[in-house]
Amino acid sequence: MKLAGFEIAIAGAGIGGLSLAALLARHGATVTIYDQMAAPQPVGSGFVLQPTGSAVLSAMGLLDKVEQRGARIRRMHGKLSTTRRTVLDVGYRNGASGIAIQRVALFDLLLDAAIAAGVGFETASRVTAIEPGVRPRLKLGNGKTSSASDLVVDAMGASSPIGYKSSTELDYGALWATVPWDGSGVFRSDELEQRYHRASQMAGVLPVGTAKDGAAPMATFFWSIRNKDMAAWRDAGREAWIEAVHRFWPEAAHLAAAAEPVHARYRHHTRLPLAAINSVKIGDAWHATSPQLGQGANMALLDAASLCAALAREPSVSDAIARHLRQRQLHIRFYQLLSRVLTPFYQSDSRLLPMSRDVMIGPATKLPLLRNLITTLVTGELLDPVGRIGLEWLSPDGALPMSDQTALL
Ligand SMILES: Cc1cc2nc3c(=O)[nH]c(=O)nc-3n(C[C@H](O)[C@H](O)[C@H](O)COP(=O)(O)OP(=O)(O)OC[C@H]3O[C@@H](n4cnc5c(N)ncnc54)[C@H](O)[C@@H]3O)c2cc1C
Repeated sequence: MKLAGFEIAIAGAGIGGLSLAALLARHGATVTIYDQMAAPQPVGSGFVLQPTGSAVLSAMGLLDKVEQRGARIRRMHGKLSTTRRTVLDVGYRNGASGIAIQRVALFDLLLDAAIAAGVGFETASRVTAIEPGVRPRLKLGNGKTSSASDLVVDAMGASSPIGYKSSTELDYGALWATVPWDGSGVFRSDELEQRYHRASQMAGVLPVGTAKDGAAPMATFFWSIRNKDMAAWRDAGREAWIEAVHRFWPEAAHLAAAAEPVHARYRHHTRLPLAAINSVKIGDAWHATSPQLGQGANMALLDAASLCAALAREPSVSDAIARHLRQRQLHIRFYQLLSRVLTPFYQSDSRLLPMSRDVMIGPATKLPLLRNLITTLVTGELLDPVGRIGLEWLSPDGALPMSDQTALL
């Protein structure tokens, strides 16, 4: 379908919304993003782009810049805090790697790409609902609506008001901070390093590269915490926390001392992806999980690529949405299930589950077949989510992919 002249309203200028907007605008669509922020800005610290998310960024022509700013991650390594026994050790296959990047760095690159493609922004615009219709609109908190559009997309993340349920919040969240990278050699520059005590305490250090050219390299430090313990944590004060980190993981105590931690809450939900006719959800608005499996940002990029490719490929918006759901649903259902099953092994009050984790997962990652399976699972590549999308359809020049040219001959 030719997207030139198409009008598209996207709610949410996060990872999914910005990448979808840039992709569609490059195809000639008239795209406007509505976000509640007074100016577009990222929330959160840093994360790992897996080969799935990197494939999308590569198709967008952004991978070189992402690689310049991010840090290559070749191993995810977890030990028990008490005995220092390794209970998680996962690498990448065939020389592949992840890219750990500061959220602000990826956000800036996506924002620049969206602006360069001609995307319009309506900031300080809190979206409250979707007004249904063949040409739906976004309802805004100030009583106004967006103009009628050919397609409306909810990319408002886990707290999207469309289909919101407070019961989806998980008991455990985390304190996150971006801190100066410790280059002394205590931490490896290509590893996500974690420490666990049962499933009730987890901490991690992830090198995340630089925010912009010439800036100092940084790391993300995270410390899991029950949401209901936050008040007690605040009352106890900063020194008590640094002391607790020191007892738990002495080598990381100086990172806690340098931190300005932000408390993040997590949700687990899989909502209906269709909000109304010609209206669809992407990213965390559709499917949110705890970051334990590290897939959320990658999933949002895959959703954006899938929807754009389907729109370019199909003759109508409804056919495109149907294709997009076929392309994404299996991968999403599988990872949602996996996250639901695995989260209690890493973030819960259970004693039994982490014990079985420590006995089984560490040794399992040493068996070649299982190691391969766990690697594919952790990197998000199981069920071939990239192959299902047809990334070649993201190209705005309208050229048919090779396979379709052959079919027409
Ligand atoms: C602490 C933390 C650590 C994480 N670590 C990882 C990781 O290691 N790897 C990984 O892949 N993922 C990770 N994630 C998950 C990842 O950040 C999300 O899955 C991803 O950001 C989802 O992208 P999105 O575009 O769907 O939503 P978001 O990036 O959350 O963007 C939503 C946008 O919508 C806007 N918005 C919200 N409500 C409204 C409204 N009512 N009106 C208008 N605008 C609105 C917001 O301002 C925001 O700009 C982590 C998440 C958190 C919180």
